[in-house]
Amino acid sequence: MRSTKTYFSTFFSGLLSLLKGMRVTIREFFTKKTTEQYPENRATLKMFDRFRGELVMPHDENGNNKCIACGLCQANCPNGTIRITTDTITTEDGKKKKVLVKYEYDLGSCIFCQLCVKNCPRNAIEFRPTFEHAVFTRSKLIKQLN
Ligand code: SF4
Ligand code: SF4
Repeated sequence: MRSTKTYFSTFFSGLLSLLKGMRVTIREFFTKKTTEQYPENRATLKMFDRFRGELVMPHDENGNNKCIACGLCQANCPNGTIRITTDTITTEDGKKKKVLVKYEYDLGSCIFCQLCVKNCPRNAIEFRPTFEHAVFTRSKLIKQLN
């Protein structure tokens, strides 16, 4: 009799433990699913604002950007993803000034660490949440941002 009681006690204890373990699974089973049906939902899909898809250099309506060609982003990039070409010009008041000629960014080698953005003193570059970057040739991932 004692062994039958122990048997049922162990059985229900095990069953309770199993149900506790399955609680999250059961709850998720009945929760509304949020799986994105990509690419069918391409037109309506919205990425999170903080998603780092691609480095860009915004330009104003006159085509000007905020870059002062200081090179800090290039110096802080851990894997040489950014290559800046600069020139030195003489301003109207006779001072020498460095200007940006070409800003190259290799999306194919970027690790999206955002060190470049964080170190830019002029907020001249930022990440956009774009994500469709598939190309057939790796060289097409090298973009000129200015
Ligand atoms: S996110 Fe990181 S790896 Fe990519 S360009 Fe900026 S510093 Fe370089
Ligand atoms: S993007 Fe920013 S950090 Fe990079 S060269 Fe221009 S101003 Fe300097």
